[in-house]
This record gives sequence, structure tokens and C-alpha cells, in this order.
Amino acid sequence: MSKEKDNITYDVVKEKLVTYIEEEDKLEFIEKAYLFAKKKHQGQYRKSGEEYITHPLNVALILTSIYADYETVSAGLLHDVLEDCDCTEEEMKNEFGEVVVKLVQGVTKLGKINFSTENEYLIDYYKKIIVGMSEDVRVIIIKLADRLHNMRTLWATPPEKQKIKSREALEILAPIAHHLGIHKIKSELEDLALRYLKPDVFYDIAEKLNKTKLERDRTVFEMQKEVVNLLNEHDIVHEIKGRAKSIYSIYNKLDKGKKFSDIYDLLALRILVNTEQECYLALGIIHSKFRPLPKRFKDYIAMPKPNMYQSLHTTVFGIDGYLFEIQIRTYEMDEVAENGIASHWSYKENRGSNSAANLQSTTEQKLQFFKSIIDLSKEKMSSEEFVNSVKDEVLNNNIYVFTPKGDVMELPIGSTPIDFAYRIHTKVGETTTGAIVNNSIVPLNYELKNNDIVRIITNKSSTPSKEWVNIVKTTQAKNKIKAFFTKNEREIYIERGKYNLEKELRKRKLVFSEFFSEANIKKICEAIKVDNLEEIYLSAGNGKTSPNSIINVIDKIKTVAAPKIVKVAPKDLDTDIIVSGIDKVKVNLANCCNPVFGDDIIGYITKGNGISVHRSNCHNLAMLDNRTVEVKWNNNGTKRYITSLLIHSKTLDNHMLDLIQIISMINVSVDGIKTINRGNEMSYEANIYVTGLEQLQKLILAIEKQNYISSVERLIR
Ligand code: MN
Repeated sequence: MSKEKDNITYDVVKEKLVTYIEEEDKLEFIEKAYLFAKKKHQGQYRKSGEEYITHPLNVALILTSIYADYETVSAGLLHDVLEDCDCTEEEMKNEFGEVVVKLVQGVTKLGKINFSTENEYLIDYYKKIIVGMSEDVRVIIIKLADRLHNMRTLWATPPEKQKIKSREALEILAPIAHHLGIHKIKSELEDLALRYLKPDVFYDIAEKLNKTKLERDRTVFEMQKEVVNLLNEHDIVHEIKGRAKSIYSIYNKLDKGKKFSDIYDLLALRILVNTEQECYLALGIIHSKFRPLPKRFKDYIAMPKPNMYQSLHTTVFGIDGYLFEIQIRTYEMDEVAENGIASHWSYKENRGSNSAANLQSTTEQKLQFFKSIIDLSKEKMSSEEFVNSVKDEVLNNNIYVFTPKGDVMELPIGSTPIDFAYRIHTKVGETTTGAIVNNSIVPLNYELKNNDIVRIITNKSSTPSKEWVNIVKTTQAKNKIKAFFTKNEREIYIERGKYNLEKELRKRKLVFSEFFSEANIKKICEAIKVDNLEEIYLSAGNGKTSPNSIINVIDKIKTVAAPKIVKVAPKDLDTDIIVSGIDKVKVNLANCCNPVFGDDIIGYITKGNGISVHRSNCHNLAMLDNRTVEVKWNNNGTKRYITSLLIHSKTLDNHMLDLIQIISMINVSVDGIKTINRGNEMSYEANIYVTGLEQLQKLILAIEKQNYISSVERLIR
């Protein structure tokens, strides 16, 4: 954080590099990148007054602190050259090769954010980060180092810009560093951001920490001595690190209503051992001497956090009655805890020639964060929806819940068992009938809490309910549920189309299998512009093309009846209605109650859209003010009117095809039917075209006669 440290030379970077890069050629490569960047930035200065090259040098130094590979460090040195200097991609490629240029390009792209509104800006930003991450996660790591150094020198920036940059660091970059597990960068970004966003709070906490430092240090030292003795008695080779809490994490706890004096993990120890077994051993030994605080023990070794973090956490009553938070983990786990994804570089066992590829594949395989983003990007969403989902579901406060086997699942706050089920597998989601959370049965709209153990009850023959769309929190579940219903409607249309075609073919005494020969299918596809037989069925089923006109493509000889479906153009409707006292006025039939010829109707004078005609019992009229006008049907009604029925059945069996048949027997055309599953009964919403009230009533009677139907009502939205 100090201003002096920023003005470093290449030697400082090199000193760090040689501790972990042995190959001469790689070291030379990095040095060449440094000299190239230095030459290109010649004559440029930072706002802080220093030569520009100090910035790339510091970025490189930050990268060495997480043991970045030579390509990443080189790209770190070169990261501002393409944008700010006279240097083409071609030139850089000739000097440093494709990989480094790609990394630099990636970082440059991330910096070029166009924004007109804050929202567009964020959307653009997230998209670029996400794209960058899926192409080469090293781009994001360089960006994090770049931003960290810029935050360290933020004092040289005008105050308004300080706030903007700090918010960005806190809301976008720190969460990304967290998800990549790069704790070092994450917590420094947070502390720096807090310093500019809430300086009062920041300095207040810093001061309190300072005041209590002596006392805390003495207590920690005493406790440490006891623990060392204890572990030595049991021959556990270990190392103990004191541990400083970040100011931001203290701020977070204070913000949640805790008192400064109550934040017990201010006193903290971290114990490092060689093996996983020794972690548990050490824990047992410590618990046998120091009484653990109930419910504070967490086993992140058996159940790692989604960002790969592993450790044992416990809080014990230590010496002098002070509470101590103790973390116990192996050296390797410690590397992952500090450097996350970058531990591929930092942990010596992992350093190999293929570390870049390993880094990328670990990102893709192990980080649930990344998987969620990829899952989201597969859903059909606008980029705004996509980015909001990423923000809500991936970056923001999430909860951790467990499967009965102990696998941890990260979900957005407000998630339900249905979200959980869909996260496991689409099939599990679709067949969910109930959920057990921590041994008790909960309703499906139960809001999951941190550490809940969730078991999903499924039934092979069960299907989702449309209501679920309003219950679930995750976009993934929402889209899967919607997809289930659209897919189902499609299947129904296909079935119906095939059925109608069979019927027509029988009438014409044609054999179905002969008629749909490969050659004929091809001709029909060309004629009605579809791709395959299934789509021919679909087209016949959803009313796009009538079965007869499909058959006529091949079998033209016979004349047939006109297709049933009559499209009603709304603008033609006005002649059907007589408005008392006014003529030649634009009239629309309201689509909330869909009046049909013969209904009792009332007109409502809209603002600028003529008169809208409602059924007199439409509840929407009650909400409208006094601008109603008397209207009457014109007696020459020859058109068809669209209206909607809500049909309730007594069972969960699907009677859709049956209903379609009944409807078509009355000579009514169907625009669409959807099912609404309400727990123990199935309802159908049918949109139909009728000639008038008389035909509609006939239809309602015919449906009500079926023994599986409980009631039929006209829908008013
Ligand atoms: Mn930069």
C-alpha cells in the first residue's frame, strides 16, 4: 500500500522469478518482454508521476507472487503496449509468439469497455470477463493483477474516479478473484476498495485493530506456545502461522450487526501439517485440551468449498477465556486457499510443462462457478438477462447446501428444493415430487438455508408443474421448466398432426405408409417449407398447414373442404359492433375476457385506441373509471371469435387429445391448448375460435358431459 514500494526495478521482479523458474530461456524471454515494454512506454508517465514502466513491472511482480508462468508474466509486462503504444499485433507476434499476443489482446479487450448507461457498461464488462475466462483464464488473472496495482496507486486519481474504480473492484473483480480462489488478490482488492468507498469505516477499524494489537499479539503468542507443545507431544510435524483478518471481512461482520469486541476470530491461528490424516489428528488433540465452541466446527476437507478451498475450521475456548478460531490444513491445501486456481503454478508438485493447459482444465472442471457460467451461457437469454443471471446467481451472495452424500452445492439465496433438484440433473428436477431438508419434509417452495442437507424425492412418472416457474430462483431451473412445457406442447402437436393426417388419408382411401414414402416426404417438405416428416406432422398439428393441403401436394385429384382454421383480423371486427350514438369508430374486442358474438357487452373508451369491448361481467371493467359506452352486436355476425376456456379435470391423466377431438366435433377451431398442473388436478387452457355464444355453449356442455371433467369456465384474465 505504500507509495515508495511502487517504484521498483526489473531486478526486484527477476529476484522473485528465479525462485521458481529455472529454465534460462524462459527467464530470457521475460527479460526481453520487459525491455520491449520499457522501450515502447519510453516517455510515458503515470498519474502518480512515475515512469509508465513501473506499472507493468508491478503487475509482473504481483503475478510472481502467485508464481505465474513465464507467458503470463511476459504478457503482464506487455499488457498495456498494444493499447497505449505504437506497436502492432504483428510486431508483438513476431517478437513473442501467438500465445503471449493472445493474452495481451485479451487483457486489452477487457479494458475497452464502451458504456452509455451503467447497466450496459456492466453487461459489457461481465461478458468480456466471461469470454476471457473461457478462452484462457490467464487473461483474467493478468487483469486482476493489473487492477490490483491500479488500486494501490488510486490515490493519484481524481476522487470521482476513485469511487467508480473502487466499486468495480468490489463488485466485479473481487468476486471473480474469490471464485477463482485467489484469496491474496481478492482480500487486498476489497481492503483497498473499502478505503476509498468508506474511508471513515476503514480507518476506524484500522485504528481499533491497532489499539488492540499488542494485547491480541500477546494472547495469540501464548496460545501458539501451548498448541506447539501439544502437537510436539504427539509428534505431529507442523508449522503455525499467525493470521491477520482483512479489514474488509471485519467490516462485513460489523455490517451484519456484530460488535467489534464480539468478532472472536480476530484471534486466529493457522496450523499447517503434511497430510490430511494429521489435520484430523491435530484437531482431535486440540479439542481434547481446549473445549470447542458448539456448531463452529466445519470440515471443508471432506466437503471442499466450490472454489476448491479445503481446511478444517474450529473455534475453541483458548487461554484466558479468549475464543480462538483455528484453521488446520496441509501445505497443499494452504496453497489452494491462498492462490486458488493459480495454485497450479504455485504448488511445486504441479509445476510442469503443461501448466497452462492444466490451469484451464481445472478452471473448467473443478470450479462450480465456471460450470454455472457455462451452463447459463447455454440457455437462451438476452445478454442483459445473461449478465443479470451471472450477477445474481454466480457472483452474489450464495448459500451452500449439501446432498445426502455430502457434496456441496452452491445456489443463489432464495433457492428452493426444485432449484437444487435441477442443479443435480434435469431428469431429477422433472420428476421431483417432494423434498426432505435436514430430516423433515418441506414444501417445494421452501427457501433453502446455508448448510441444509437436501434430499429430493422423485417419481419416475411425475412431471413438472407450470407453477414451478414462479417458485424457482435459478435461471437454469426456470428455463428447463419452460422448455419442458414447450417441448410437451410440440409433442402434442406432432401427435395430433399425425392423427389428423391419418384420418384424412383414410377418408381418401390412401395407405399411410405408402403415402409417406421418402420421395413424397421430400416433395411435401419442399412445398410447405419444412425439413422432415416430424415437422410435417407438427405443421398439420399446430394449424399452420391443414392436413388436406399437405395431402394435396401429392394427391391433387380430389377436391376437399376448406381448412377449418379461420384467422380473424382484428381490424375487420368493427362492423360487428354497433356503438350507440357514434359510428365509424375504431372498435377492439378486449383480450382479457374475449367476448364472442351474443355475449352481453360493454364498451370502454380508451385513451387513443378507440373503444374496447368487454363482456359485461369482466372484472377489469370494475377497475376502469366511468368511461363506458353502450355497445351492441351487429346482427350479421359471420366471423369467428377467439376466446379462452379453463377446463378443470378430476384426474392427473392427460386428456388433451380427447378434448381436441370433442372441440373439433363441434366444428370449433383450436388455436392452442396448454396444460396447467395444480398438484392433484390437471387443468387445460384452450384458446378457440367460435362463431358465437351459441356454439360456445354447445361446446361447454359437450366437454362437461365427460366423466373426467369437473368444471368448465370462460377465462377472464
Ligand atoms: Mn494496466
